[in-house]
Amino acid sequence: MASTIVILGTGGTIAGTSASADDAVGYTAAQLGIGHLVAAVPALRELDLECEQIAQLDSKDMDIATWQALAARAAYHLARADVAGVVVTHGTDTLEETAYFLHRVLASAKPLVLTAAMRPATSIAADGPQNLFDAVSTVRDARARGVLVAIAGRVWAGAEVRKLHSYRLDAFAAGDAGPLATIEEGRLRWWREAPRGAALGLAHIARDATQWPRVEIVINPAGASGRIVDALLAQGVHGIVAAGTGNGTLHRDLEAALLRAQAAGVRVLRSTRCAAGPVIGGALLRSAEVLSPVQARVELMLQLLS
Ligand code: ASP
Repeated sequence: MASTIVILGTGGTIAGTSASADDAVGYTAAQLGIGHLVAAVPALRELDLECEQIAQLDSKDMDIATWQALAARAAYHLARADVAGVVVTHGTDTLEETAYFLHRVLASAKPLVLTAAMRPATSIAADGPQNLFDAVSTVRDARARGVLVAIAGRVWAGAEVRKLHSYRLDAFAAGDAGPLATIEEGRLRWWREAPRGAALGLAHIARDATQWPRVEIVINPAGASGRIVDALLAQGVHGIVAAGTGNGTLHRDLEAALLRAQAAGVRVLRSTRCAAGPVIGGALLRSAEVLSPVQARVELMLQLLS
């Protein structure tokens, strides 16, 4: 029976350190190696774990090459007969994008569980060790499938999770969809199954990171104009996600510019700047449906790779 759990480290606040234990903001992310993080959780000592450091970065600096490396190593380990699943430690800042990316790319039915922390490892209120333990508990649960996120006592679908708070330990949610499960004392209480879709596979993302399509996000604030879109068009942008107001609505000048860009061959997706909710209807510019602007950007890049 597959019992090995592979833990892939990428950095983040979970691996961060601060000069002062009560400083929850003036710390440096991505300082401790994955072996150090695992050693801080006594309950993991009895388990068959393997650790691998994929990257060591603050996830605000996440990039396509790191995504490619992470997806490749995750796919390799998930395909091993002796591996039950994979845990990925990550920064919270771009976790929703990495989770969505891996959800769209990885085909394995085995669980890959991302986790993170809102406080550095040196904090008096470090949440990383509990979150790491919960992520491992999630991998070990018989109902866990596909790309999941375990953080602050709950399990989220990688396709749905969003970072909604800049400071609270319980910083993630999934809008109307809600969590998949609650974790208490290493046990999961499930509310529903994770959504699954056809995965694109590693070959789809093989193009050199420097050659990926450029997709930008343009927000619709009050008094918006189309000038940013015109500038992006002049620079040869390949795709634009419009983060519209409410149900993806756009200032008329911005909408006109986006329609000009679309007519010139730029792929446009219309999302919402609201923290939750879909974009319903609208014929002229394609809806991103329930995707957040940053998830929609990942989706559009993946579509443009075809
Ligand atoms: N800037 C950090 C990161 O995303 C924040 C965190 O992990 O909470 O790596």
